[in-house]
Amino acid sequence: MLNIILFGAPGCGKGTQAVRLAEHYDLYHISTGEVIRSEIKRGTELGKSMEGYISRGELAPDSIVVEMVRDFMRTHSDKGAIFDGFPRTTAQAEIFDTMLGEIDQKVDIMVYMDVPEEELVRRILLRGKDSGRKDDSSEDVIRNRIEVYRQQTAIVAEHYTKQGKYVAINGLGTMDEVFARLIEAIDAKK
Ligand code: ADP
Repeated sequence: MLNIILFGAPGCGKGTQAVRLAEHYDLYHISTGEVIRSEIKRGTELGKSMEGYISRGELAPDSIVVEMVRDFMRTHSDKGAIFDGFPRTTAQAEIFDTMLGEIDQKVDIMVYMDVPEEELVRRILLRGKDSGRKDDSSEDVIRNRIEVYRQQTAIVAEHYTKQGKYVAINGLGTMDEVFARLIEAIDAKK
């Protein structure tokens, strides 16, 4: 059983690498951002209540995101998973630890992908051109997301550092180079 948190600022490449890691280690993959976008696309009540947060580049409420992950774990707990974009606040991390503890599981490692801010903005704007994601198309919204990351999310690293589970890798370079660094960091910790 291997539960991995992929951690880093918006645009650091978590989503891309999460898919590859899930395949490499045969794990499930959950992106809370993807779950939220799919609710919005399907026009559900939950989705409607999320639209404002996403378009402003703010975090969705902890209680809602935590329930999404709880729902996911109900049907995806027979093997480990890559958690991509979750937990994003210390409150989420605390509830998450408890949630995993209740099913005799734990977070094994948090890997931080380090990428400088200018590169983050550049990558997200590029991605916005292809994906049509509205929150990827406005530089103001992107800068706000990075600011929210600094103010509310970066601190989650301390939570897992205290547990001896935090590792940082350089997120610059080709996708293959970054992938190789991730594998090396995870294998060293397993
Ligand atoms: P990015 O990392 O590029 O910002 P994501 O797909 O991870 O993209 O997230 C998109 C948006 O979804 C975030 O800006 C935020 O509004 C919301 N979101 C995703 N995960 C969480 C979470 N764990 N807690 C709160 N909000 C979240």
